Amino acid sequence: MPIVLLEKLEKIFQNNENIPQLEQRKLFSDVVFNHPESFHACETCNSISHKSVSICPVCTGYSFNSNEGEIIILAIKLGNQEKTCVTEGDFE
Ligand SMILES: [Zn+2]
Repeated sequence: MPIVLLEKLEKIFQNNENIPQLEQRKLFSDVVFNHPESFHACETCNSISHKSVSICPVCTGYSFNSNEGEIIILAIKLGNQEKTCVTEGDFE
């Protein structure tokens, strides 16, 4: 994975408060779009996570879809919508 993309991902995962949430989602979807082979989508809630993650961080599901075409479609949707689910960060 190119270094620029890795840096983008790190920024997103550090949940940098200087980056607006919608912008974070766009960055993340950009990375997923370019590297669908590195990600999978939760079959329960459709959230996208890195393949190194074996339990969904959103719903704790453990069944994932690795179809690259579907991951790309999800990434495009993700980058164009506001957050629709409650995540751990919302309780901080
Ligand atoms: Zn899930």
